[in-house]
Parts: sequence; C-alpha cells; structure tokens
Amino acid sequence: MQISEYPEHEKKSPRRPLDILRHPTVRSALALAWVESKPGLTGGHEEGGFIVVDGEDKLSVQRWQAGEGNQIRVPEHLGCEADGLPVVATFHTHPNTGPDYLQEPGETDKRGVRDDAELKGSQYVGEFVVAHETVYLITPSGTVRELDGRSELLG
Ligand SMILES: [Zn+2]
Repeated sequence: MQISEYPEHEKKSPRRPLDILRHPTVRSALALAWVESKPGLTGGHEEGGFIVVDGEDKLSVQRWQAGEGNQIRVPEHLGCEADGLPVVATFHTHPNTGPDYLQEPGETDKRGVRDDAELKGSQYVGEFVVAHETVYLITPSGTVRELDGRSELLG
C-alpha cells in the first residue's frame, strides 16, 4: 500500500488530488461511502463528506448525512472549514449504476462547486465524484477531470 504522508520538506499546498485519494484513511472512507450508498440500478442514495486536514497535517473524513436519491445536502463550511479544520476536498457518490444514468458530474454538480464561495480555500482541490466506473474531480473552477477507475483507486 502506498503511504502518502507528506515529509516536512515535501509539503505542498494544495495537495495533488490523487495524493489525497491515495491516502489510506481517505481511500477506505470513500470506499465505505460507496458501499453505504447502495450502488445499483435502483434504490441507491448519495453519500458524501468533507476531507479535512488537522494541525499535524493528518487527513480525515467528516461524512455528511446521507442524501436522498441523487441529492445530498452539504453542511455548513464557512471559510472552507468544517469543525474548525481546513477542507482540502469534498466528495459525493453517484450510486446509480444504470447505463441510462449520467455517471459523470452534471451541471448542478459543477455549479455547486464553482459557485460556492465557501469552497475556495487555499488548500481546497475540488470535489471527488465516485461513480460506478470512474472517480471524477470537479475543480474549484467547475471543470471536470477523470482521475481513474473506481476499483483502481478505491479497491
Ligand atoms: Zn452529483
């Protein structure tokens, strides 16, 4: 397993999105959120959360309350902080695995990140969208990148 704790001299701000995803704590939290969103053709719901960093440079995940269907409410994050800790990324799942369903982030997703003035912290890299095949990143400016396959990234 690749460990991506940052040695002091390599500290970067902001982190690279893939380094955040490969962090063992983040990786397992996102894998769990995916399972808990009950992926399938019907009956799934979105799960999501904040990925925050503490004073020791440790990453942790604060899950949001479960969403309903293809919606999820983002708790308050004034100044790009959650519980006093800087938010480095957000994430949510797209649990519907059906071929008719839009897997990649849609316009509402992109706008949600781009137009959120409180998601513009200096360490914030964007929102991961965990879908059946692929993990996407919505950057703070609202563009979408495909990062890699979900099973490759989250196991
Ligand atoms: Zn979405």
